[in-house]
Amino acid sequence: QKAQTAGAREERILVVVRLRPLSDKEIIANEVADWECINDNTILYRNNLREGSTFPSAYTFDRVFRGDCLTKQVYEEGAKEVALSVVSGINSTIFAYGQTSSGKTYTMTGITEYTVADIFDYINRHKERAFVLKFSAIEIYNEAIRDLLSSENTQLKLRDDPERGIIVEKVTEEVLRDWNHLKELLAICEAQRKIGETSLNERSSRSHQIIRLTIESSAREFLGKENSTTLAASVNFVDLAGSERASQSLSTGARLKEGCHINRSLLTLSTVIRKLSKGRQGHINYRDSKLTRILQPCLGGNARTAIICTLSPARSHVEQTRNTLLFACCAK
Ligand code: ADP
Ligand code: MG
Repeated sequence: QKAQTAGAREERILVVVRLRPLSDKEIIANEVADWECINDNTILYRNNLREGSTFPSAYTFDRVFRGDCLTKQVYEEGAKEVALSVVSGINSTIFAYGQTSSGKTYTMTGITEYTVADIFDYINRHKERAFVLKFSAIEIYNEAIRDLLSSENTQLKLRDDPERGIIVEKVTEEVLRDWNHLKELLAICEAQRKIGETSLNERSSRSHQIIRLTIESSAREFLGKENSTTLAASVNFVDLAGSERASQSLSTGARLKEGCHINRSLLTLSTVIRKLSKGRQGHINYRDSKLTRILQPCLGGNARTAIICTLSPARSHVEQTRNTLLFACCAK
């Protein structure tokens, strides 16, 4: 559904929710699943009566996906249209938001793969244009930007380019050859992201990952001629730091600093998303964090945005699940 306003038309943010199943470990630990998708749009907390809670028990979104839904379906109904706007020259961003272990990486990896497959398919069906598909991947950790395709541990800088807008300087861009090449690059990113992790999920719970696909195309009949114009657009897949980082108060020293930075990126993002969802009233503070600066050309304006909120069904996670749903409600 598109917001119909005169003049500069704003697209509404697509907000969907994905519940994951209880894990084997949770089942063995006698965890109880308290959340249920009662139709395609509504998710329900079933334990409110017992708790006597004042929180709402039903939450409604563009789409909610049950624990047994396949990623393919989440892609088809919750991301595809936004992701593929890139082939028409429209920038877009897809976020995964949720607490650590709720399924952000699981969901985003699949969605990235399905998008690339569909883009290759599109390229094959449009021989009248020449396409170049580029892949880059960065991590934002403590407001420092790292290239996930480079083994050098140097920090990347942002630069405001008068023509191209905000640029991540010296970031590695690989021209994607085929499906196997994508798998190779995703494996490199995953390995790079694990470096520095002291325990499972430790680093990825604190850092944001942005995978960017850029598609450039020009009509073959004008190739090499003066009147040849190139159409370019990007789609970003953003695997956010664990949302618990936005609320948790961390104790001292480095951890405290880290907490503040993650806070800053996630909080700035929340503010930006909230303003965008209200139709962009007032000034939007993209410059307040690295994450929103980098994504600025692909948020708001003509750009399309989808947010996939991932949820654990476990009773013991109810507080974080509610926080995620509150964020999701603010975005819609
Ligand atoms: P996050 O990135 O949010 O920390 P992960 O994507 O790593 O979480 O998911 C945590 C674990 O749960 C992983 O082992 C993953 O394979 C599993 N998982 C997540 N979502 C699903 C799902 N929808 N169906 C099955 N397993 C899932
Ligand atoms: Mg993850």
